Amino acid sequence: MTPNACRQADEAGTDLEQENPDPGHEEKHRACLVCGDEFLSTWSGERVCKRCRGSARWRQG
Ligand SMILES: [Zn+2]
Repeated sequence: MTPNACRQADEAGTDLEQENPDPGHEEKHRACLVCGDEFLSTWSGERVCKRCRGSARWRQG
């Protein structure tokens, strides 16, 4: 019998500062689906540049 099962409770002290709660919320440059121009999309679901969104021709139907 070895008394090695004695673990210290200090392990729980790890901080989770590097967690990414919302990966879909990311500002990055993407290519517009309509004109193909690169634009700054504020989240992963934004695929059309502001200019094309303003014209609103891409959402026909
Ligand atoms: Zn566009």
